[in-house]
Amino acid sequence: MESLRFKVVDEAFNRKADPVEIPQERPEKYYGKYVFNRQKMFEYLPADTYQALCSAIDNKEPLPREVADSVAEGMKRWALENGARHYTHWFQPLTETTAEKHDSFIEHDGKGGVIECFNGKLLMQQEPDASSFPNGGIRNTFEARGYSAWDISSPAFIIGNTLCIPTIFISYTGESLDYKTPLLRALNSVDKAATAVAKMFDPEVEHVRTYLGWEQEYFLVDESLYSARPDLMLTGRTLMGHESAKNQQLEDHYFGAIPSRVEAFMLDLEIECHKLGIPAKTRHNEVAPNQFELAPIFEEANLANDHNQLIMSVMAEVARRHHFRVLLHEKPFAGINGSGKHNNWSLGTDKGALLFAPGRSHTDNLRFLTFTVNVMAAVHRHNALLKASIMSATNAHRLGANEAPPAIISIFMGSQIAGILERIEHSTNAELTNLASRKELELNLSQIPEIMRDNTDRNRTSPFAFTGNRFEFRAVGSSANCGAAMIALNAAVAEQLILFKKAIDERMAAGMSQNDAILEEIRALIKASKAIHFDGNGYSDEWKEEAARRGLDCETSVPLIFDAYQRKSSVEMFRTTGVFSEVELAARNEVKWEMYTKKVQIEARVLGDLAINHVIPVATQYQSILLDNVLKMRQVFGDDRKDLTASVTDSIEKLTQHINVIREEVAAMVDDRRVANRLESEREKALAYHDSVVPHMDTIRYHIDKLELMVDNEMWPLPKYRELLFIR
Ligand code: ADP
Ligand code: MG
Repeated sequence: MESLRFKVVDEAFNRKADPVEIPQERPEKYYGKYVFNRQKMFEYLPADTYQALCSAIDNKEPLPREVADSVAEGMKRWALENGARHYTHWFQPLTETTAEKHDSFIEHDGKGGVIECFNGKLLMQQEPDASSFPNGGIRNTFEARGYSAWDISSPAFIIGNTLCIPTIFISYTGESLDYKTPLLRALNSVDKAATAVAKMFDPEVEHVRTYLGWEQEYFLVDESLYSARPDLMLTGRTLMGHESAKNQQLEDHYFGAIPSRVEAFMLDLEIECHKLGIPAKTRHNEVAPNQFELAPIFEEANLANDHNQLIMSVMAEVARRHHFRVLLHEKPFAGINGSGKHNNWSLGTDKGALLFAPGRSHTDNLRFLTFTVNVMAAVHRHNALLKASIMSATNAHRLGANEAPPAIISIFMGSQIAGILERIEHSTNAELTNLASRKELELNLSQIPEIMRDNTDRNRTSPFAFTGNRFEFRAVGSSANCGAAMIALNAAVAEQLILFKKAIDERMAAGMSQNDAILEEIRALIKASKAIHFDGNGYSDEWKEEAARRGLDCETSVPLIFDAYQRKSSVEMFRTTGVFSEVELAARNEVKWEMYTKKVQIEARVLGDLAINHVIPVATQYQSILLDNVLKMRQVFGDDRKDLTASVTDSIEKLTQHINVIREEVAAMVDDRRVANRLESEREKALAYHDSVVPHMDTIRYHIDKLELMVDNEMWPLPKYRELLFIR
C-alpha cells in the first residue's frame, strides 16, 4: 500500500505557482471598488441624504429614521450593479470569528413574480437569534432575541455576491454580545477623556481619534499536507511532530526572497484587499520557515479592526485558490516562533497632532510626555487586565515561548525616553521650564525630537513597546479579534486621563499654573508607575523574578488570568468609562472559560485519536518487525550470541515503553476529562482542564515525538515537520 504521507508530500512538492489575475488598471482605480465609501455615497445617494449620512458619521450621531430608507435604496442600487444578490448583517460575536446570515433581496411582487427590495429597516436593525451565539447566560431562556444594528462609521462592502453591513450585536436587554459594541464605547470614552486633556495644549481640539495598525503574522501549509494532518484540520495546530533538524537556526527565512507560490498568493490577496478598501502595504517572510506577515497602513481603530476581521477570512479564501491553507493559530508548530498580531496603537487629535509624537516646542513635548506617561500609568494599574485581554487557549502556547513576549506585561520606552523620564523625576519645575528656551542644553524639553532619532533600538522582547510615535502591543495573538486588546487598553487609558484631568484641575484650583500642575502630576505618575517600565530582556528568567518582585502580574494559568476582568479595579474602570457593566463582565468571562475548555477538549480528543489510531498501530507494527528480526537473528546465530541483538532488543524495549506510556496516559486523560466535564461552574471546569488534562497532552506528545524518531520513516503516517515547514 502506498503511504498517504508520501503521496501528499509528492503532490505538494510538485505544485507550481498558480496564476494571478492582475487587473489592467493601477490600484488607485480599483481601490475600494467593493466598498460603499463616501465616493459611492455621493454618487448613489440624493444630496440631502448624503449630507445627513456624512454628518451622522462625523458627529457620531444616530442616523435619522427617515434618512435610512433613502440610504438603503442607494446602497441597494450600487450593490445590485456590482453583482450582489444577498445582503447580511456582519458582526463579531464572542466566537472569535465573524457571523453572517444571508437574505436574498427578493420579495413577492403580488403578480406571481419577485422584485428585489431593500429598505431602511432591514439596513439598520435585525434580530438574529442570540441563543445560538455565546452569551454567558445573559439571555434568559424566554427572551432569545438579540439585535444587530448598523455601525455607520464602518462602510458596507460586497464579498462575492453578498452585501455586508457591519453591525454591533447586543442582547434584548441591551448588553453587548460582541467585540464591536464595547470597542465603540471604549473609543468614545478615550475620545472624551483625551480631548479634555489635549485641550490643555490646544484649545481648538474637539476630538481625539484612536489609530490602529495591525501586523498579521501567519503560516502557509500546502493543502495536501494539511489534509493529511487531522490535528491541523481540526485544531489549527500540530499536536505532535518532532522538531526538524533544520528550523530557523540560520535565520535564512526572515526577510528572505519570497517563494514564488507564496508571492502569487500574496499578490492575489493584496488585490482583493485593495478592492475591499483594506490598505494592505507591507509583506515579508517572518522568522520561522513558512511564516509570513501582512501589514496595512494604519486606520482608525474601529475600521482597522473590521478590516482585520475581514482579512482573516479573505486570506483563507485566497489561500485555497493557491492550494495553500493559512494557519492563523498562535503556535501551529512547537519549537519555532509562533504568530502574533502586533497592534500599533496611537491617539491623534482632529487637528492633526499625534499625541505620542514628540514635537518641536516645549508645549508639544509637554503634551507628548503627558500622554505617554498617562499610558504608562494606565498599563501599570491594569497590567493584569491587559494580559487577560490578549490571553486565550491558543495564545497561551505562544507567550513566553520561542521569542514571543513573556506572559508578563511591561513597557519598553527606550534609553532616550527613559533618560528624559528620569530627569523629570529629579528636576524641579523651574529647571525644566526655564530650559525650554535654552537650546544648547540637552535637558531641554523642546529638544526631544533631536535625541529621538537615536531611539531605534527596538526591543523585540517587550510585550508593549514605545516605537517613536506610537505604542506597539505585541502580545496580541494572531487569531485574536484586536477588539479585545483595544477595548481594555483604550478604556484603561480613558480612565487614567479622567483622573489626570481631575488632578490638574485640583492643582490649578489651588493656584498652580497649568505648566507646573502638569509637571507635578507627570512626576508623580512617573514615580508611581515605575514598576511597569522595563527596557531589558523580557525573555530572561531574571526578568520573571524581577517582575514578581515589582508586583506585576505573573500568573500563567489561562483560566486564572481571566479573573482579572472581574477584579474590583477592572469593574470600576469599565463602569466609569461606560464600556462594560458588571453583568457584561461576568457573562463574558463565562464565555472565555467555556471557550478555553472547549478548545482544550477538542485538542485532547484529537490527540487521543491520533495516538491510538494512527501512531500506536504503526509503532506496534514496527515493533513486530524488530521482534521478528531478533528471532531470526537468534535462529541463525544461536541464543549465545545475544551481543548481536542487544541494540535491537534495546530499541524494542524503549519502543514498548513509549507505547505503554502513551496508552496509559490516553486512558488517564479520558478519565480526567470525565471528572472535569462533571463540574458545573465554567471557571472550575476550565481550571480542571488546565490543571489536569493539559499535562497529559504534554506527556503524550513527548512520547509520540520520541517514537517518530525511532519508527521507520517509510511507515510514519503523518507529514513531518520538515515537510510541513519546508515545502512551498
Ligand atoms: P514593524 O514590523 O517595523 O513594526 P510594519 O511596517 O510591519 O513595522 O508595521 C507597522 C504598522 O504600524 C503599520 O501598520 C503602520 O501603518 C502602523 N503605524 C505607523 N504609524 C502608526 C501610528 N502613528 N499609529 C498607529 N499605527 C501606526
Ligand atoms: Mg512588522
